[in-house]
Amino acid sequence: MPRTIPLSSPDIDQTDIDAVTAVLRTPSLSLGPKLPEFEQLIADYAGTKHAIAVNSGTSALHLCMRALDIQDGDEVITSPFSFIASSNCILFERAVPVFADILGDTLCIDPALVEKAVTKKTKAILGVDVFGKLCDWEALKSIADKHGLALIEDSCEALGSSKGKTKAGAFADCGTFAFYPNKQMTTGEGGMIVTDRDDIAAAARSMRNQGRAEGAQWLAHERLGYNYRLSDINCALGISQLRKLEKGLAARARVASWYADEFAQMGDRIRLPGDQPGVNVSWFVYVVRLTEKYGRTERDRILEKLRAQGIGCNNYFPPIHLQPFYRRILRTKEGMYPVTESVAERTIALPFHNRLSQDDVRTVAEALRSALPSP
Ligand SMILES: *Cc1c(COP(=O)(O)O)cnc(C)c1O
Repeated sequence: MPRTIPLSSPDIDQTDIDAVTAVLRTPSLSLGPKLPEFEQLIADYAGTKHAIAVNSGTSALHLCMRALDIQDGDEVITSPFSFIASSNCILFERAVPVFADILGDTLCIDPALVEKAVTKKTKAILGVDVFGKLCDWEALKSIADKHGLALIEDSCEALGSSKGKTKAGAFADCGTFAFYPNKQMTTGEGGMIVTDRDDIAAAARSMRNQGRAEGAQWLAHERLGYNYRLSDINCALGISQLRKLEKGLAARARVASWYADEFAQMGDRIRLPGDQPGVNVSWFVYVVRLTEKYGRTERDRILEKLRAQGIGCNNYFPPIHLQPFYRRILRTKEGMYPVTESVAERTIALPFHNRLSQDDVRTVAEALRSALPSP
């Protein structure tokens, strides 16, 4: 059996290890100096006034819901083509995710359908920068302004993407990053809220730390809070990873271009994740799509064949509205979001990370070519 090629891999070097072990030699494992240092660096990077570190991207999204006062019965318009956390955070507060289908090119939410989904109960729009591509934030912002809605950017897959001078995370009232090991940079587990709004920042800071007020007594709690803190061990890793981010993003762009070269002649069989005009895309994953000549059966067979050869791959993303508990809670079903459904049954996420070699890319491409039946 040939050597395995993982779907994703963190990029950890000796500098990262030293940064983590240095914290372990101090008594400040949590709420120490690494926390504000990491937050300031992320705020500077994203170009926002505030950054609030938390223990996951999901926690970051949840605190955005709470800070924006999303409540029982409120409607939040979001994408059915995403990692499930972007929609679950709405359910956490017993609010209602109202899905709007995506655009076939960017795979991000379609502003025209968002506009149509607005009702008297709509409280917010939560757009997802899927695979590092950016939502049409100008259009979403004008819809939000017109109807008096809050705007949330799930930029958990888009750290480093930008349009003009604006970086991912900074387009909405608040944005979120995630630092799970498959993301552009990692803290092991971790997340971040970025915002220019003082009220969101203050509420998020308090809620991630058991509802304590800034500088208050340890056992004085002014609101309902959580333990969503990110330890200084994680923050030290984040600081060290952030220093290498641009280099890592360049490596990822190179890997994406190798794949594009390999697949250049296969336009009749697969669609490549191209560039996004006017956007500097931070590559999160490399997801190809089978053309309409193929469907779920062929796709699933290809995934099996690749896995049998030790090649990591996956079906990013099954539609959220077709997950069993969503069907139960929201009574959603097949046919409701046709673009999402059509895309979702044809995607193949291929191995993708900073250290993937051109040799690995050739191996993966060859395996995909031979797994693909002739149209
Ligand atoms: C990774 C991710 C999250 C949340 O990440 P966790 O840190 O695993 O909680 C949220 N939304 C999207 C779109 C993601 O890809």
